[in-house]
Amino acid sequence: MTEPILSVQGLEKHFPVTKGLLKRQVGAVKAVDGISFDVLKGETLGLVGESGCGKTTTGRMITRLIEPTGGKVVFEGHDITHMSQSKIRPLRRDVQIIFQDPYSSLNPRHTVGAIVGAPFRIQGIKTEQGIKKEVQDILALVGLNPEHYNRYPHEFSGGQRQRIGIARTLALKPKLIVADEPVSALDVSIQAQVVNLLEDLQNELDLTYVVIAHDLSVVRHISDRVAVMYLGKIVELADRKNLYESPMHPYTTALMSAVPIPDVKRREGRERIRLQGDVPSPLNPPPACRFHTRCWKAQEICKTVEPPLTELAAGHQVACHFPENAPKEQPPLQAVSD
Ligand code: SF4
Repeated sequence: MTEPILSVQGLEKHFPVTKGLLKRQVGAVKAVDGISFDVLKGETLGLVGESGCGKTTTGRMITRLIEPTGGKVVFEGHDITHMSQSKIRPLRRDVQIIFQDPYSSLNPRHTVGAIVGAPFRIQGIKTEQGIKKEVQDILALVGLNPEHYNRYPHEFSGGQRQRIGIARTLALKPKLIVADEPVSALDVSIQAQVVNLLEDLQNELDLTYVVIAHDLSVVRHISDRVAVMYLGKIVELADRKNLYESPMHPYTTALMSAVPIPDVKRREGRERIRLQGDVPSPLNPPPACRFHTRCWKAQEICKTVEPPLTELAAGHQVACHFPENAPKEQPPLQAVSD
């Protein structure tokens, strides 16, 4: 687990805001504003943050569903950021996405066989008989009855429909899967089953995941490392244990203070940090540290100088002038992003 399979470098997505009949551009929503991270082969990177932080936009740029405004997406050493459709086709098999909503992401007029078999047909790589065999094998792999090949999505429960979505994603034997809120539309009782299924498939098929979620308990369960996003920026990135037990960015600290802890002793004395105010608009984000309008530690410098994402402990990066839980003897500051 050492090779980066995916490298995201200074990635940006600015959506233009236009006005009037002539659609004059009057501004831009900076949904993602210069983020960088690597994903190692075989690992799971969790991408977390409040609604509107840019995590879903990031997932869609990685899978080339939307075009970045700036920066690069490098997959297995190939810069795929602006690769033409004909050149990217072979790579499309390798990078797949699981959508959030199992209800709307499946065509209700198509059978499960048609839905899961579609990627094979599009790529023109199997005969009809061969496709049926492959689809039934995948249905069995994700815990569905292969005999239900001719059933329609409405005949399945929510959890089963998400399994169909996962089966469709696996059809082309991808190497990297972006799972965008894969369990948030499911009942709590079903969520654990789907998360466990994703973990089993990862071990069995040697998959790499980027899991996008707002639910910190889900991310904690499934991720090896976690990146925290706030208003289009990564503010902290660390392995799961360090991030959950010793968060350094005040925003992460606030998020973690709300995560339920089953252990009564550890729960006692823990203080819940309630963030004041709403997330500012990405159309006009606060200058310098974007979190300064909600941060209880903010000082003058936070309003004028943007803190760079800096590695303060091995593999633990944070963008803050006054980090929490920072090692007493800090190594020389080393910025890892602009
Ligand atoms: Fe808070 Fe300042 Fe750190 Fe931003 S840089 S998170 S405002 S302490």
